[in-house]
Amino acid sequence: MKKTTGMDRATTRNWRAATQAVRGGTWRSEHGETSEALFLTSGYTYDNAQAVADRFAGEAEGMTYSRLQNPTVAMLEERIALLEGAEACRAQASGMAAMTAALLCQLSAGDHCVAARAAFGSCRWLVDHLLPRFGIETTVIDSADDAQWEAAIRPNTKVFFFETPANPTLDVVNLQHVCDVARAHNIITVVDNAFATSALQRPMDFGADVVAYSATKLMDGQGRVLAGAICGSEQWINEVLLPFQRNTGPNISPFNAWVVLKGLETLELRAMRQSQNAIGLGGFLEPRIDTAGGRMLHPGLASHPRHALAKAQMKATGPIFAFDVGTRERAFAILDALQLIDISNNIGDARSLMCHPASTTHAGMEPEDRAEMGVTEGLVRINVGLEDIDDLKEDLDQALKAAGI
Ligand SMILES: *Cc1c(COP(=O)(O)O)cnc(C)c1O
Repeated sequence: MKKTTGMDRATTRNWRAATQAVRGGTWRSEHGETSEALFLTSGYTYDNAQAVADRFAGEAEGMTYSRLQNPTVAMLEERIALLEGAEACRAQASGMAAMTAALLCQLSAGDHCVAARAAFGSCRWLVDHLLPRFGIETTVIDSADDAQWEAAIRPNTKVFFFETPANPTLDVVNLQHVCDVARAHNIITVVDNAFATSALQRPMDFGADVVAYSATKLMDGQGRVLAGAICGSEQWINEVLLPFQRNTGPNISPFNAWVVLKGLETLELRAMRQSQNAIGLGGFLEPRIDTAGGRMLHPGLASHPRHALAKAQMKATGPIFAFDVGTRERAFAILDALQLIDISNNIGDARSLMCHPASTTHAGMEPEDRAEMGVTEGLVRINVGLEDIDDLKEDLDQALKAAGI
């Protein structure tokens, strides 16, 4: 294997994102293959006993076991790091493997974590249920209220954990402000960047320490595999994450890593086009939703309370938005009338997908917590895909009519 186009950091760091997306991190074997090779191997062989001893001692380069290293996975990690502007990245089996590892690798009993109230259901489960079981205190706050971050800090606060835009209420967190507060108090920021990805928003440019991903979403972008990733400084990854990861094993399959590598080649094109479609569709629906007494939640539209901030910290506002039509009956009536858009709780896919968060992605939460974070009974969320915008408008037009809106 030759580290051809991606591993010479001095050169590749200077490439622009579009170039890194198709070339960053590429290794080539002696065959000179154009597309990245898929190494489905769990182990490696050695020329002699001393060679393996040297590798285990860290005195010779080379791989030893796929829980520790794999060439296909390493290509994905390098490409994500380059796109993110991070020193290092480690791929994970899923987004939730990534979130769990990013938190548990650095928090211990007696530490305190401040987290955004508006978050993906399983991320809230980690904060509300898993961390407290191990003696880690947690506080959830309204992440869109800047002052609440500093107010929640205690002497033992070690981590800030949030996503922006948030799933599914599209709350937008002020990245610069929250990262500045964290820095001033020696707190590590862990940002779940699944909704935006590096194509639309790079939290490290604002001072975030750790960026964690569900790569299942926009990165794969075609609804094929589960995948995750964690980016950070070389030191944090090596000293804090790796001891946890290597010994607990939340590793991604090389096959899934290869699929996501292919997805990254078109990430920016998809993210920009899907964002454009989402603004077109959201703008088309908003007057109807307003007239019906509902509410549009879309950071790309002027009606969003943090529209200006979203525009300032994101290159585009992403494929996902939500709207509230008042009741579960109306929400279900819309979903049931869809002819083109699928009912599905996945996001980031090239296909348009719609779901009812209160009965799906956030069904596991306590009803009071759901209400507090704005996941109401009438809320529907849409992931806008790459279809022709006019077909999407026509489908939602007839679905809203069927629901009496
Ligand atoms: C989907 C999602 C996750 C979980 O990712 P999986 O790959 O499904 O495990 C975490 N955070 C956010 C914001 C998500 O949308």
